[in-house]
Amino acid sequence: MISIDILPEDFLNTAIKDNLDIKEYIIAVKTDINSLGEFAPSWVILTEKYLYCISEDFSGTEKYDLKYIKEVFAESLVSIGMLTFKTDMGYVEVCKFSNTLVPKFSCFASVTNKIIRGEEVREEDIDKNVEHRCEKCGKYLPNNSMRTCPSCIDRKAIILRLFAYGKKFKVQIAVITLFLLLTTIFSMVGPYLSGTVFFDYVLTDNGKADVFGVDLYGKVVLIVIILVAFRIFSMITNIIYGRISAKVSGEMVYNIKTDVFESMQKLSMKFFSNKMTGNLMTRINSDTNEILYFFIDGLPFVITTVLNILAMGAFMMAINPWLGLLCLIPPPFIFMFFRKFMPKFRKMHNTLFRRRSSMNSRMNDSFSGMRVVKAFGKEQAEVRNFGRDSMRFSDSAVKVDIVSSTVFPVIGQSMFIVTIFVYIIGGLFIINGNFTFGLMTTYIGYMSTIFGPMSNLANTVTWASYAMNAANRVFEVIDAVPDIKDCEAPVSMPDIKGDVSLKNISFSYEVNKPVLHNISVDVKAGEMIGLVGHSGAGKSTITNLITRLYDVNEGEITIDGVPVKNIKLEDLRKQIGMVLQDTYLFIGTIAQNIAYSKPEASLEEIILAAKTANAHDFIVKLPDGYDTMVGVGGSGLSGGEKQRLAIARAILHNPKILILDEATSALDTETEQQIQEAMEKLVKGRTTFAIAHRLSTLRNADRLMVIEKGRLVELGTHEQLYKAEGVYYKLHKLQQEALKIRGVE
Ligand code: ADP
Repeated sequence: MISIDILPEDFLNTAIKDNLDIKEYIIAVKTDINSLGEFAPSWVILTEKYLYCISEDFSGTEKYDLKYIKEVFAESLVSIGMLTFKTDMGYVEVCKFSNTLVPKFSCFASVTNKIIRGEEVREEDIDKNVEHRCEKCGKYLPNNSMRTCPSCIDRKAIILRLFAYGKKFKVQIAVITLFLLLTTIFSMVGPYLSGTVFFDYVLTDNGKADVFGVDLYGKVVLIVIILVAFRIFSMITNIIYGRISAKVSGEMVYNIKTDVFESMQKLSMKFFSNKMTGNLMTRINSDTNEILYFFIDGLPFVITTVLNILAMGAFMMAINPWLGLLCLIPPPFIFMFFRKFMPKFRKMHNTLFRRRSSMNSRMNDSFSGMRVVKAFGKEQAEVRNFGRDSMRFSDSAVKVDIVSSTVFPVIGQSMFIVTIFVYIIGGLFIINGNFTFGLMTTYIGYMSTIFGPMSNLANTVTWASYAMNAANRVFEVIDAVPDIKDCEAPVSMPDIKGDVSLKNISFSYEVNKPVLHNISVDVKAGEMIGLVGHSGAGKSTITNLITRLYDVNEGEITIDGVPVKNIKLEDLRKQIGMVLQDTYLFIGTIAQNIAYSKPEASLEEIILAAKTANAHDFIVKLPDGYDTMVGVGGSGLSGGEKQRLAIARAILHNPKILILDEATSALDTETEQQIQEAMEKLVKGRTTFAIAHRLSTLRNADRLMVIEKGRLVELGTHEQLYKAEGVYYKLHKLQQEALKIRGVE
């Protein structure tokens, strides 16, 4: 039996008791969310005859007969994934899951499809990578972008590494530490002045009122002034401390962010297209912010609280060990209690939040689809559904309220009980003359300083573990080894000629989904090759492999006889230019954008390139000419203009091998002509691979490669292929007819 997830024994037994015949299952995968995006685990199970979807608590079971299923699909949608299958009647949704589970479900779908087709399922059909297990303990990872699970993270190494970022700020960190000590001293001095000094020295005239040779008896105003001065002093140190620490943490995090960004730039395209692009910004921003906030707020809080406990505890124990002990017994219990209680309380809050969102989305859904609701007479069903959601939300809200209105007052009162004991025992000590009223007031002041932060200290432990996880994720990216990198002894090729050979290449972006099959072609330097085929046939993929954005799975690509894998990446990238469908312009001036490939280019060179690309005329008409700023992605410019800038960029780059991916957007005849003309100038003397959606634009190509479903089905000149009346001929005819319908000759 092959399985990605192993069905738990209990689950299997209960299912069998419920007459669900899943004992001999072939493959099983656990989903994590339901259709509302709520956490609700279910098992999707495949047997020889059926596909099951059973919720973990057996509250719902679906059983589909494989006889009626044509094909199963695991799709990745924007934020979630979905398992569906096709029947003669249409598509049926089996379940939804979070995007991290897409690889598992893809594997599930491919195994199911094999069973449907009656093919044999082999060990290797299960991609071991989909398991996403921790490298150290082998447990499932909460997130497939991690390599080690949170419990296996080497915290010590991470902390040391984080501190290594602080090396540059030794002086500032020394000042911060000094200020943290000062804060502790101030928080000790406050209750001491207002308690012991005030009551025992200032208000008591019994011969003890002599502090540092100053008789304080009756000096009420003086002590109040000292108290206020301490307050002001403490405020100033806090401000200075806050400013220095914000600056240092900010700069440290800036350095971490730069390191992450830099290593991301080195990573291959596979990393970016691995459906985790959305995660990348989160990684750079939230993870580093998590670390930042922990450094600014969390760590200093822990340090001051611990210092307070130590210093105040030592003072209290030294003056009166019994009373000191009484004050210091509760904090560990309070801390432990919050440690245990807080995660549960947070979980309750999360449930409340989820239920509120699903109730709101239900309302939103129902109101927006009111026409459909009414048309199908579904008002009562909607009311029932809403009632159920609303009830679940209100159950949750009641639970949270009951807990918070019970637990927190109880904790507050238990602290008060300790204070009462201090009053009783302290009072007895005072009567016996072993303690003073002032000292007791100081003790009570210290107690509240120590007890107060206990609940937060418990939170900080969780916070620290979040920050550690964030740091771990960040360091994983920093340490990631790019899979497209120079080989051990790369061949330096500063001047390539441009012969390109594809030798039996095959490729897939994802396991079990081959995109290219066994393609071979020899292209001579300076030749222009047109890539033709339906959308999704694999044309861009071929160019991605030539430029080594990805590496082939099988076969080899050579340039001037040297395998691209062995060519120094820097040399390769310098000599391959691309003009892509959607020209990406970075924020900056037009001139900077043209010179993106050659920042040292002079303005004359830039203008010459723009003129060759037929872009000069429109550029000079812009308000600031070459200095006109363009926005993200080149907003403010038309498709044709952006394309000409891309051509100018490529002309300046002056590559030996050129990849052209023609834009599909409709352009007016004049613009099209100008672009065509610029392209002709651009391709001269370069080996060119051109993907054109309009076949007429490939008339100048020396040869055409016709790609169908990832295979090279025809290769030859336009005339040869046209005469052969094969795939190309059909494509050509189809397109001509389509153009005629649109009235384009
Ligand atoms: P074409 O250029 O002929 O339109 P492509 O080479 O872009 O086709 O795509 C070929 C196949 O590879 C398509 O099925 C497409 O969905 C898939 N594909 C393209 N890029 C990726 C990617 N980054 N990850 C996974 N699949 C991809």
